[in-house]
Amino acid sequence: MVTAAVEEVVTQNSVAYCHRGDDQRLLSEIIRVRGDLADLQVFEETRGLKIGDRVEFTSEMLSVFLGPGLLGQVYDGLQNPLHEVAEQVGYFLVPGVYLHALDTEKKWDFTPVAEAGRTVTAGDTLGTVPEGIFDHHIMAPLRLRGEWTVEKIAPGGAYCVTDEIAVLRSEDEQSLPVTMQQTWPVKIPLNVSVARLLPTEPLVTKIRIIDSLFPVVRGGTYCIPGPFGSGKTVLQQLTSRHADVDIVIVAACGERAGEVVDTLREFPLLEDPRTGRSLMERTVIICNTSAMPVAAREASVYTAVTLAEYYRQMGRNVLLLADSTSRWAQAMREVSGRLEEIPGDEAFPAYLESRIAGFYERAGCIRLKDERTGSVTIGGAVSPAGGNFEEPVTQGTLKVVGAFLGLSRTRSDARRYPAIDPLDSWSKYTGIIDPIESTEARDLLRRGNEVYQMMAVVGEEGTTVADFTVYLKSEFFDSVYLQQNAFDKVDGATDAERQKFVFAKCLEVLRLDFEFEDRQQARRVMFNVADLFRNWNYAAWDSDEFKKILSQIDACIADKGRTADRQRPEQSRKTPDQEQSNEKWQSD
Ligand code: ADP
Ligand code: MG
Repeated sequence: MVTAAVEEVVTQNSVAYCHRGDDQRLLSEIIRVRGDLADLQVFEETRGLKIGDRVEFTSEMLSVFLGPGLLGQVYDGLQNPLHEVAEQVGYFLVPGVYLHALDTEKKWDFTPVAEAGRTVTAGDTLGTVPEGIFDHHIMAPLRLRGEWTVEKIAPGGAYCVTDEIAVLRSEDEQSLPVTMQQTWPVKIPLNVSVARLLPTEPLVTKIRIIDSLFPVVRGGTYCIPGPFGSGKTVLQQLTSRHADVDIVIVAACGERAGEVVDTLREFPLLEDPRTGRSLMERTVIICNTSAMPVAAREASVYTAVTLAEYYRQMGRNVLLLADSTSRWAQAMREVSGRLEEIPGDEAFPAYLESRIAGFYERAGCIRLKDERTGSVTIGGAVSPAGGNFEEPVTQGTLKVVGAFLGLSRTRSDARRYPAIDPLDSWSKYTGIIDPIESTEARDLLRRGNEVYQMMAVVGEEGTTVADFTVYLKSEFFDSVYLQQNAFDKVDGATDAERQKFVFAKCLEVLRLDFEFEDRQQARRVMFNVADLFRNWNYAAWDSDEFKKILSQIDACIADKGRTADRQRPEQSRKTPDQEQSNEKWQSD
């Protein structure tokens, strides 16, 4: 942090540059003004700055560039394109090197939409350019106020983002040249719409436990808290790949550098299941490792959400994944500490909760002027120290999100992936399964767990066959439905239609009175049924194999597992994970 004496009028949150002796300009933000002193948060290493160095103030707030060419980019929290920076200065970042966020030389194929003489307001489409698999709308500047007339519009052709593509004229005869790029201050929500809609449309992630039990909706918010190594990052990657959205923005925020490198290395290799091309073509990654200056980390989640809002403005469905918001909160704590503010819970600033709420509130579904809708869904990972969900960041997040997908160490240790705890998690949204039925399944899991706890005390002999069956049914549902093998092409992603079908079949089993004679028989039969379902999960939807197993399952339900009890299925396909997680079944 730097304190500067000011002679002019400066405003909080505007951008300043500290000039270092060697003429490097270090980007900073004014975070507090005290009389004629301004406290600056420098987004870089401050080493080399000396007392007496010059500070240059601007009237701009910390902003991002918006325009075609964002998709596929990897940025740092201040929107420096990292690949280009690396080409210029090598892989060790040098303070003071800022590159333009968008390629200013690349030509885009512009098609005009608004003709001259038309009246436009902020956000109206002036023209489009193809960007990857989408049409990128070139919109009238989002910060325009009032009605403007299109005075001139460029004919179709190839233009750079800095070329003038239109001129607008206001009612009081001001004229405004428009290019394909514009800026927006990151800390101000970007939303130019006629209405904010209640988010109700399920966002299918193809992860069964989420879609069926703890659904997320387009325009909604959810959080994934979990201790280190419980699978938050893997879960975020799975959703970024399979979730039914147009665009994914990943804010890899403050995790260890090695993990971020993994993300960067893996992402371009991932194939988009929808197009068969690189997933990167509809992804933007904002990354800040814990080794980068702490202040830039605070900015990165705002940069990410602003980009998400920009694409929502074009009528797209965007998913923003922040991993992890705990690191962002820690950055806030450090900055607050340096300002010597009165600390709140666990030394986090007192405004922690309102900042968290402010961030998640930027999610939402909007209706645009021309009846199109767009959405930003925010999913934030939280990494509470020691997996303690009582800490301020988790608690602050819980109060504002619509779904809570808590990961549990016990489940990840047992390799029951995804390790979302079905007893702890909740969602306020309605998904693809009838809520009455998903509640029924959750109830059974809860009762199964009660029996399991009881058995830990009185042993298996102390439980009735009926109770024991409840336990076995909950284990059945867990192992065949909630657990999913992320590495299998078929089992790794289950679409909505298949989920509804398989869920209904599972319910038939859960509701069936098997009339078991003893616990041994119960275990044998339930194990066989589970085996059938697991094999079913690996069979492609509607394939012959799928139909064959379905008829076996139906036969098994019809005779309450009696035939299956006599003839064990010849062969079962299991991953080592599942074998391990099901050891408990076989060992006793
Ligand atoms: P976190 O981000 O919570 O620290 P990670 O997402 O990096 O944890 O996961 C840690 C490890 O757990 C992974 O490297 C992987 O081996 C294992 N893992 C997590 N989720 C899954 C999954 N769905 N399927 C298989 N393995 C998983
Ligand atoms: Mg992680």
